[in-house]
Amino acid sequence: MIPYGRQDISEEDIQAVVAVLRSDYLTQGPAIDRFEKAVAEACGARYAVAVNSATAALHIACLASGLKPGDSLWTSPITFVASANCGRYCGADVDFVDIDPRTYNMDPASLEAKLARSAGKVPKVLIPVHLAGQSCRMQEIRALAERHGIAVIEDASHAIGGSYQGQPVGSGAFSDMTVFSFHPVKIVTTGEGGMVLTNRKDLHERLVLLRSHGITRDPKAMEGPSHGGWYYQQLELGFNYRITDIQAALGASQVTRLKRFVDRRNELAERYDRLLAGLPLITPYRIPEARSAFHLYIIRLRSGELRKSHADVFQALREAGIGVNLHYIPVHTQPYYRKLGFKEGDFPESEKYYRDAISLPLYYGLSDHDQDTVVRELKRILGG
Ligand SMILES: *Cc1c(COP(=O)(O)O)cnc(C)c1O
Repeated sequence: MIPYGRQDISEEDIQAVVAVLRSDYLTQGPAIDRFEKAVAEACGARYAVAVNSATAALHIACLASGLKPGDSLWTSPITFVASANCGRYCGADVDFVDIDPRTYNMDPASLEAKLARSAGKVPKVLIPVHLAGQSCRMQEIRALAERHGIAVIEDASHAIGGSYQGQPVGSGAFSDMTVFSFHPVKIVTTGEGGMVLTNRKDLHERLVLLRSHGITRDPKAMEGPSHGGWYYQQLELGFNYRITDIQAALGASQVTRLKRFVDRRNELAERYDRLLAGLPLITPYRIPEARSAFHLYIIRLRSGELRKSHADVFQALREAGIGVNLHYIPVHTQPYYRKLGFKEGDFPESEKYYRDAISLPLYYGLSDHDQDTVVRELKRILGG
């Protein structure tokens, strides 16, 4: 089986992890600081807070934005459930903004129209998701958010190493915070892991507190005087969302290859574009102001021109050993969200997308030969 995604682990990565295992700190040690600095620097952000998943990162980013019961959070229906669930963790209502049918990202025009209809009850937090690694139209989204006083958290789980208007994703030029995921299918991995980037000192301080039980050991942050060297205070209700040094060492080592990872992914994407030209499908559309990190290569079948159904093509590819996938099932159609009142038809572009999208294998270590196999099988199945 040629998988749809796969990690790349080098000998240096392994040595970096082994070095931590031989050191004094398995967690709360120096590797975390190194990893945070490496990512912050690569992305041009002032602060970075590493945690044990992007889901945890989204949760504390929402809390740091002040999201609470009675507030609402809007995101895209075409995302992993975590981009919406983080709002529910805070007791907030969740709603969605339909996608642009060309980029499959949150459509600024839909956002503008929905904001106009929601006068008086605009969301506190907006989470645009950079699907497949291509940045949303952040300038337009940020302008709308600013007009309505909405905090913006970029879910850049797919987009580390990508750029928008010449700035790395994560630089925070158009948002308050940016979240990355380091799950093994993503561009950079720590096994499990995530990170929040921000340029704001106040948000950074909140995120650090929330990551570790709401506890501080900094006498300057305490209420009243410190009792001594052992003393800590819990200032609010936080969590144990810490990443280990074992994971952070792997991440810091991986990040040194970020440019290589993203360059190869772009090269493979352009190769797919060429090899798939002329088939009854749509290849990924690029907006001129972004460079995608190409976490995913998503095609859409032109179902009207095919004798086979979307599900049949998908199944035939799996049977041919091509590990295709579908990113994503529109979140509002999940049973959990239906019970909150959403229904089929609420976000038509997202539902249309779901009926013909397929993610083809794409990862740093994918060989030209294996990519040719994917294309050959796809041609055979679409032709037959
Ligand atoms: C993977 C992913 C997440 C969750 O990441 P974890 O690190 O697995 O918690 C959130 N949002 C998107 C868009 C993702 O792809």
